[in-house]
Amino acid sequence: MKQKSDIATLALKPGKEKSLLRRHPWIFSGAVEKAPASIDAGETLRVLSHDGAFLAWAAFSPSSQIRARVWSFDEAERIDADFFAARVARAVEARGALPASQDREAALRLLHGESDGLPGVVADRYADTLVVQLLATGAERWRAEIVDALTAASGCENVYERSDADVRTLEGLEPRAGVLRGEPRTRLEIVEGARRLRFGVDIEAGQKTGFYLDQAENRAMVAELAAGKSVLNCFCYTGAFSIAALAGGAAQVTSIDSSADALAGLAANLQLNGCDPKRSTALEADVFKALRSERDAGHSYDLIVLDPPKFAPTASHAERAARAYKDINLLGFKLLKPGGRLITFSCSGGVDAALFQKIVAGAALDAGVDAQIERRLTATPDHPVLLSFPEGDYLKGLVCRIWSLPF
Ligand code: SAH
Repeated sequence: MKQKSDIATLALKPGKEKSLLRRHPWIFSGAVEKAPASIDAGETLRVLSHDGAFLAWAAFSPSSQIRARVWSFDEAERIDADFFAARVARAVEARGALPASQDREAALRLLHGESDGLPGVVADRYADTLVVQLLATGAERWRAEIVDALTAASGCENVYERSDADVRTLEGLEPRAGVLRGEPRTRLEIVEGARRLRFGVDIEAGQKTGFYLDQAENRAMVAELAAGKSVLNCFCYTGAFSIAALAGGAAQVTSIDSSADALAGLAANLQLNGCDPKRSTALEADVFKALRSERDAGHSYDLIVLDPPKFAPTASHAERAARAYKDINLLGFKLLKPGGRLITFSCSGGVDAALFQKIVAGAALDAGVDAQIERRLTATPDHPVLLSFPEGDYLKGLVCRIWSLPF
């Protein structure tokens, strides 16, 4: 076969084929015995075990610790435009039954990187516009084919690129952002969930691709819990949880974020949804400090949302991250009224669900409250987790309810 003779080979050290045999898609530099000398970043490699057995087709990434990312474990597969068309079509089709999939005003993630078999490729559809992130060398190498496949499968002609995430640097790639296809508007509007909440999304300057789509179902749950309640939404970004709480009948919502742009987004979203401005208070502040001021002022809440940024991108940051999680969760528990709920998240890859629960348990203990886990939360189903890639299971949340009697 042509592919066999033309394609460069990467050989692994003895015993280093194990994770590939379990279909994990990353090959770390320490596992590599011999990499080709003259091959461009992003080109396809034939990956072999130490004794020469075929393991995978993978994209070469010479500057990254993740030296290659697997496209396919099937020796008969060819990595070409048809391959990308098939993978993208499969991902879009798999989401076909989700309500947001058929709704052209809604938003959803169409491609979720490794978990959809396309390492380094993320694509979110916001109404009629796609926002794409190409975050690894292989994704960059095949950008035209991937974008063609996405426009064909989604029917979206407007495509904007937000490959300006830090991880590109690790791959030796420059940040890239801007229009890829058509004439996308950079400020758009989406609707979310059965309540049809409306949110403005700035795909040019907003965080990530513009909006945190992974929390959509959790916002719907907050709306269900919020009737008549006083709510504190920490790390609110453009206030999506705040709007959900108000739509669910919250009596009062306080939203905190350190970003003035995020709070401007909240103000716009309050208006878009016709929320009563008297029920909303916004604080531009560091949550770590603001929670202490709230405590010192003797404030308390029925429902507190803690959705901080990634404190631990990898396990090596876990210890420092654990202290930060403990701190905000402890203060959160202290600010709850009897019978109140703490809805607490971690989106850190380096902190798994078991460790997160342990941290939250420690926080409750130190806060002097007895708390029960009512629900465990995760990302919406348009952010699936491939079983062979547990790193994809980044978002975990707990709904903790404290007892109404004192400790
Ligand atoms: N819950 C939001 C997403 C939160 S993203 C949603 O559903 O849309 C995390 C947010 O935390 C970002 O908006 C960021 O600006 C903010 N942030 C990061 N560090 C912070 C800090 N120390 N204090 C306050 N806000 C912070």
